[in-house]
Amino acid sequence: MVFSDITEEIELADKFAVASQAKSQFLANMSHEIRTPINGIMGMNTMLIDELDEGNTDDARKYAMNITSASQTLLSIINDILDISKIESGKMELIPVEYEIFSVLNDCYNMTLSRAEEKGLKFEIDIDSRIPSVLYGDEVHFRQIINNFLSNAVKYTRTGKISLRLKELSRKGDNVELSVEVADTGIGIKKEDVGKLFKNFTRLDEQKNRNIEGTGLGLSLTEKLVKLMGGEINVESEYGKGSTFSVKLSQKIVNAAPVGNFSDQYNEFVNQKKENTNVIDIHDASILVVDDVDMNIQVVKGMLKRTRANIDTAYSGEECLEKIKKRHYDIIFLDHMMPEMDGIETLEQMRKQDNPNKDTPVIILTANAVVGAKEMYLEKGFADYISKPIRRDDLIDMLFRYLPKTLVNVPSKENPDIKKDDKAVKNVPECGTVKVDKPASLTERFPMLDTTTGMNYCMNDEEFYVEIIGTYVENDKRQLIADTYAAENWKDYKTYVHALKSTSLNIGAVELSEHAKALEFAAKEGNYDYIRENHKKVFDEYSEMLDKLSDKLTV
Ligand code: ADP
Repeated sequence: MVFSDITEEIELADKFAVASQAKSQFLANMSHEIRTPINGIMGMNTMLIDELDEGNTDDARKYAMNITSASQTLLSIINDILDISKIESGKMELIPVEYEIFSVLNDCYNMTLSRAEEKGLKFEIDIDSRIPSVLYGDEVHFRQIINNFLSNAVKYTRTGKISLRLKELSRKGDNVELSVEVADTGIGIKKEDVGKLFKNFTRLDEQKNRNIEGTGLGLSLTEKLVKLMGGEINVESEYGKGSTFSVKLSQKIVNAAPVGNFSDQYNEFVNQKKENTNVIDIHDASILVVDDVDMNIQVVKGMLKRTRANIDTAYSGEECLEKIKKRHYDIIFLDHMMPEMDGIETLEQMRKQDNPNKDTPVIILTANAVVGAKEMYLEKGFADYISKPIRRDDLIDMLFRYLPKTLVNVPSKENPDIKKDDKAVKNVPECGTVKVDKPASLTERFPMLDTTTGMNYCMNDEEFYVEIIGTYVENDKRQLIADTYAAENWKDYKTYVHALKSTSLNIGAVELSEHAKALEFAAKEGNYDYIRENHKKVFDEYSEMLDKLSDKLTV
């Protein structure tokens, strides 16, 4: 007879049972959380269709906006779930980068300020001016932690104020230990509930908080991120009075120059931002724009005309590599999807070969701005990304962020007349902030286009819009699309329909853009049957669009 001690096995089996129960609970909660916004989206979509059938465009727009907002909720839930499961399976990687602490605080402050003001809450910010201005660490997740705290503070506070405080605790060698504190005068948390705060899908006082949207994932994710970053999280709260959430984190110092007074810098930033979209002058800056689609290059050039920048262009990764050997650029805008060598490969080559652009910030232009894309691009070495169709404000924002400050002239009170003598400047209407009604003539001239969308992408500048439509027609890609289709060269086919998607959206050919997008997705997924079934239809639609547009342009 053999006796063996099976205590360990029993313990292990118990552990598995608990883990498996936790997993089932997680999946059940997750399905519920995801189903709710999907139900909302489907319901509103049905109403949208009804309203459209009856021609009630105002109501239709309202439902469409609700769909967008429910989709955003859904997306953020899914992001949180993905992040949590990534952390739990040990697959979440920290991506340390150099970053300016002011820019992080500024963005967090901006994002929260309007939400706080909408609820009539005061928002105070107190930043230790000694903190080093440039740090090294996982900026994306650092922001996420602060934003999660701030968003909860706004959500769970009815009256009073919320505040964000950043303190320097100590310095050791190259490292600075920081403390971030978010305090509110909100509903507070019962002592016995504090331990539950960081559990997945756990919400407190559900009955009382039923009108506040939430999933109970934010804090659980925040705690996991803080741990991953080697930090400490703490909560102090008095039920009915308010709460303070804080984190202690260590970051590397890159530039020890103190960040200085936050409010002064913030005010300067706000004033600059008001003016920058209209009249920044960067005539000493050299910019390289790389895109295989001429129309995209024309769009960027048109949008930057008023800035008087020196713009050089390249139509492929290879041409870009040639150009960067010869001279230095202050910033490079590089398209992602190009035939032959794509943007990511181009950057890899660029960093390998000897050239005077080793430190030049490279911004990737992409029509695939999916969630998590930014992290992926940063990891590949890009400074940032802009999603296509490009908006002028985004372009200007990038110039502001990444050009050396000495190259950017902003009109000041002392020098308000900067560039007033420039004809190109006077003729271009303001864009972005001002919504200009599209002239009736445009709709009459181009009934096949959604001219509101097109004009929006063209700074509401009619002349520029028509010019871009001209470029679209000139850049007839039918031959290339037909050839790659006939040769079943799906890699290049995908690139061309991808370009068709974004250029069509740019001029307001919204439906064609959608159809091209479906082809692109099919090519990506290897669903060639779908392409074979739909290629001709989309191709004919594109042909018809080109014919109609060229008729209108020659009139
Ligand atoms: P949620 O999406 O529900 O806001 P969180 O994980 O961020 O999820 O927070 C979990 C719960 O903790 C919330 O549902 C709420 O009950 C409580 N909570 C979080 N922040 C605060 C706060 N600042 N004041 C009071 N209660 C809070």
